[in-house]
Amino acid sequence: MQLENYIRDIQGFPKEGILFKDITPLLIDPLARKKCLNILLDSLKGQQIDKVVGAESRGFFFGILLAQELDAGFIPVRKPKKLPFKTLSASYDLEYGSASLEIHTDAIQRGDRILIHDDVLATGGTAKAVCDLVEKLGGEIVQCNFLMELTFLNGREKIKNNPIFAALTY
Ligand code: IMP
Repeated sequence: MQLENYIRDIQGFPKEGILFKDITPLLIDPLARKKCLNILLDSLKGQQIDKVVGAESRGFFFGILLAQELDAGFIPVRKPKKLPFKTLSASYDLEYGSASLEIHTDAIQRGDRILIHDDVLATGGTAKAVCDLVEKLGGEIVQCNFLMELTFLNGREKIKNNPIFAALTY
């Protein structure tokens, strides 16, 4: 089974000029989903993880699956004003303007071993913001992992201080 076959290219979504990688065919297929999950788990080589941090919203799908398999906690990092308790926020640049992400301030204890997960590593802005939040709360980043890395956007440069793994590269 080739995982690539479960990623669908959508030309012009969400706007013209963008080739969007759609993971919904992967989510819908139990065998492909399991294979992908096992590839991500194998990359951790049995390292202990206390908490998985998933980025809204497509980082939640495999983030929660990883947390379950690793017997770890799951922490959602969300867009502004979605989390109800006290939050810490980190901003990052977009092509036009900026965006920010938030985490609950009590979600991570100093020294927690953290796995960061998102579906796609593109320019790296999102992943860098998540890394900043985790580090500010005293978490130790064990790995940043992704279903896919779009290597031509060189996002890994922004988070190069951390181990990075992607199940698929384009
Ligand atoms: P970055 O911040 O530029 O690295 O973009 C990564 C974020 O944008 C992730 O949270 C992804 O969910 C989303 N993203 C960027 N490109 C794609 C894509 O082709 N398919 C799905 N999500 C994408």
